[in-house]
Amino acid sequence: MTKKTKFVFVVGGVMSGIGKGVVTSCIGKNLQVRKGTIDLIKIDPYLNIDAGTMNPIQHGEVYVTDDGGEIDVDFGHYARILGLDMKKTQNITTGQVYREVIRKERAGDYLGHTVQVIPHISNEIKRRIREVSTFKNPDVLLVEIGGTVGDIESLPFLEAIRQMIMEEPEEDTLLVHTTYVPVPDHLHEAKTKPTQHSVKELRGIGLNPNIIVCRSHNILDEKTRKKVALFCNVPDEAVFTLPDLESVYSAPYHLDKQGLGELLIKRLKLKLSPPDWKEWNELIDRYENPTAKVKIAMGGKYTQLVDSYISVNEALKHAAAFYRYGVEIDWIETEEIEEDPQKVRILEEYDGLLVPGGFGYRGTEGKIKLIEYAREKDIPFLGLCFGFQLATIEFCRHVLKIKNATSFEFTSSGDINSSNLVIDLLPEQKGVKEMGGTMRLGGLPVKIKENTKAFELYKKTLIRERHRHRYEVNPQFIQRIEEKGLIFSGTSEDGRRMEILELPDHKFFMASQFHPEFTSLPWKPNPLFRGFIGAAIERKKKRES
Ligand code: GLN
Repeated sequence: MTKKTKFVFVVGGVMSGIGKGVVTSCIGKNLQVRKGTIDLIKIDPYLNIDAGTMNPIQHGEVYVTDDGGEIDVDFGHYARILGLDMKKTQNITTGQVYREVIRKERAGDYLGHTVQVIPHISNEIKRRIREVSTFKNPDVLLVEIGGTVGDIESLPFLEAIRQMIMEEPEEDTLLVHTTYVPVPDHLHEAKTKPTQHSVKELRGIGLNPNIIVCRSHNILDEKTRKKVALFCNVPDEAVFTLPDLESVYSAPYHLDKQGLGELLIKRLKLKLSPPDWKEWNELIDRYENPTAKVKIAMGGKYTQLVDSYISVNEALKHAAAFYRYGVEIDWIETEEIEEDPQKVRILEEYDGLLVPGGFGYRGTEGKIKLIEYAREKDIPFLGLCFGFQLATIEFCRHVLKIKNATSFEFTSSGDINSSNLVIDLLPEQKGVKEMGGTMRLGGLPVKIKENTKAFELYKKTLIRERHRHRYEVNPQFIQRIEEKGLIFSGTSEDGRRMEILELPDHKFFMASQFHPEFTSLPWKPNPLFRGFIGAAIERKKKRES
């Protein structure tokens, strides 16, 4: 029998970037450690249909789901803290909602009515939220509304949840407000006024928060916490303080110690088990008390924002924690290596090189230089997607001696012809004009050859990993490449697309056309990252002995 799913809505006030996603995950974890089942929706009030066409420098990495969604960076946090496998429809955007309503209007589905934001847009939002609750029929569906209360663009979503709170029984919905409490340098005092104002703003649109989570640099003192309760009209026990923590993974327990879990259960009238944090806290201990650190160099150009490659950074941490190690990640700006090729020697100071995904020609010659150095000097190397393609180009240039070996993506970089095009456009991409959602996307099976490093790591002949690319190894070069010793140890099921490459005689030289970072979990590092960090630890030990 299907049970009634309850809804927890999470909204944010004061400013963006305060960790609403982390708070949402904390609520989920508090339910999971009590054996409650959960699922999740994130609403992004922008007009983009999805995050696929957005610049990662501006908006953080594009997270790829198994069903081929290119969605918001926050889904990576949810997947890593909550272990949820989510579908693309769990990321609702204004663009999707309007597209659907306009499609129905054109189809004549509204039977002559005037189509309006309320009720047509708000109904479509509610329909989408309720639809996700049917996927797994969880005890609780968490619904996080991106943006900040007061933004014009989030209004239809707030109106939709206001209606849902009215329509559902009282114990079936809960509204959590995440705010920021600043401590200005010149005052040394926590100021609650911005929080009071954002709650006032919420009230103005008919929403009364049940729980307030105050983000701040340090933990709030009791006086301040009680002041928030009094001025914002919520019970004392419903105001939580979440300071900046060394690792986000310790946030869920931090909030439970303040009574979050018990309050959720009481307020939602849930019948769950007593909390069991043992496994989770053991995991955190691994992260917080490493025996030593490995140093990894990342070659790239999106150096401005850590969020651009957050899943890669986290996957490195997962793999390091597996060995009870920490990881120090430094970016190597590859354009600097192009200006001064001697700078490639900086790799001597590192235990491994990672070249992640990317687009466009700028900075690639520097990346190729780094890969060449790692290959020749036996330095552990892991290439992801673009990194896989560049490793192929490097090998073709320097081992197969194909002068100017290049990718179809670099048409602007010079002369491309059939003799040097080692990375070509995927056949199904020919003629594709639209940018959004048109790459080779999502989870696909990958066949692994036995007696290879890939098999040793995955211990399976068939795996499933997530993709996001337009180009691939040109099939016409495969035989020549393999004859020179670079093995394609993973391919698509039909054997046509190259998926994993490795050099058998190298300490660790592997790359994948897919993105292994999206399936890595804190308690289950992705095998490729595990192998890479294992090799980096070996190198570190050798360097130090
Ligand atoms: N630009 C490359 C392609 O489209 C790689 C993409 C990526 O790294 N995600 O194939």
